Amino acid sequence: MSNVFYRSSKPYPVAVRGEGVFLYDDAGRRYLDGSSGALVANIGHGRAEVGERMAAQAARLPFVHGSQFSSDVLEEYAGRLARFVGLPTFRFWAVSGGSEATESAVKLARQYHVERGEPGRFKVITRVPSYHGASLGSLAASGMGARRELYTPLMRPEAWPKLPKPDPARNGAEDAEGLRALLEREGPETVAAFMAEPVVGASDAALAPAPGYYERVRDICDEAGIIFIADEVMSGMGRCGSPLALSRWSGVTPDIAVLGKGLAAGYAPLAGLLAAPQVYETVMGGSGAFMHGFTYAGHPVSVAAGLSVLDIVEREDLTGAAKERGAQLLAGLQALQARFPQMMQVRGTGLLLGVVLGDLATGQAFETPGIASRIGAAALKRGLITYPGSGAEPNGRGDHLLLGPPLSITAAEVDELLALLAGALEDVL
Ligand code: PLP
Repeated sequence: MSNVFYRSSKPYPVAVRGEGVFLYDDAGRRYLDGSSGALVANIGHGRAEVGERMAAQAARLPFVHGSQFSSDVLEEYAGRLARFVGLPTFRFWAVSGGSEATESAVKLARQYHVERGEPGRFKVITRVPSYHGASLGSLAASGMGARRELYTPLMRPEAWPKLPKPDPARNGAEDAEGLRALLEREGPETVAAFMAEPVVGASDAALAPAPGYYERVRDICDEAGIIFIADEVMSGMGRCGSPLALSRWSGVTPDIAVLGKGLAAGYAPLAGLLAAPQVYETVMGGSGAFMHGFTYAGHPVSVAAGLSVLDIVEREDLTGAAKERGAQLLAGLQALQARFPQMMQVRGTGLLLGVVLGDLATGQAFETPGIASRIGAAALKRGLITYPGSGAEPNGRGDHLLLGPPLSITAAEVDELLALLAGALEDVL
């Protein structure tokens, strides 16, 4: 008997080793990691240099508490990261995971307005669908019925007004006007922030708005005096072919950028936010302290992993690689659409790609969730890891598959991924 509390009753293979884009289980089976776990393992598995850097850090300085010390490794990383994502004057607040990071961003936006003398601003507008995390605050921010339902009695929905998802077929700037209308309905003086994933990940298979959308969002946020939070936990750190997805879509600068997943690429728990100077200075020049903190925030071993990952991302130009291999994978998926018309939409950018699965009879997203997880299970049987999802539509329908292998994947491995996926689609459709 195992003492592990599994996430579901399905049987799990037991992983023992990872190398490049492959994972191996205790029965010696090999799996091509077509989704980098949950879009995490950006540099691939088993890079000894990251482990060595972490071990050296643990031996030299394993821990300091953020209320007492900064650390040399955190000082170096904050500067390198801010320059890498093109926000060189922003301040880095480190935490352990994406949910902690989005919740930190929400709390920072709230405190910013209180410090400015506007305590009436507390609402945070987010989109449906969206996924910002599993903790109660980040889940309340998320527009994902299936993951929220059980916990809504613990939330305060009126604090989290929801904006419908962008429609890439519309004019981007006009599409973004929905935010202005919602702000007017809510009363802009009650709203602290607007938070959105520049390219939607887990909840809606790599959905991005049309050009012009974020430029208009930026203007509307400025006019209403609200903080624009870009949740780049999944889309950032090169995955979309640029350091931040927002910069590939627009020249827009957020007030707070939230990062996670690819930061330490799964080698250690590391996430965080980058705050614009005016946000940081308003808090530091007001009460003088961010009223928030986690024991493991800025953990030196995690930050050492982040530094080593950033070295690899820059040295191997994995951002450029994401663009190139992403174009290859996208073209391969589009070619598969001719064989499997249930692949209603194939979309995304860089190596954040999604397939929306549809019902041929109705031309709509599948009514009953389940087809994506059946394809995911068939793929796993063939040795391919994917990231199936459902529930993008408000009524819970809308099955999709998210694909996002490590940015270090080779051209031949992309071909292998496509062949394995074709087999799984053949098995199920
Ligand atoms: N934000 C986005 C955009 C995500 O995709 C996720 C996770 O999928 C999160 C936040 C939550 O991150 P974590 O699972 O590390 O808490």
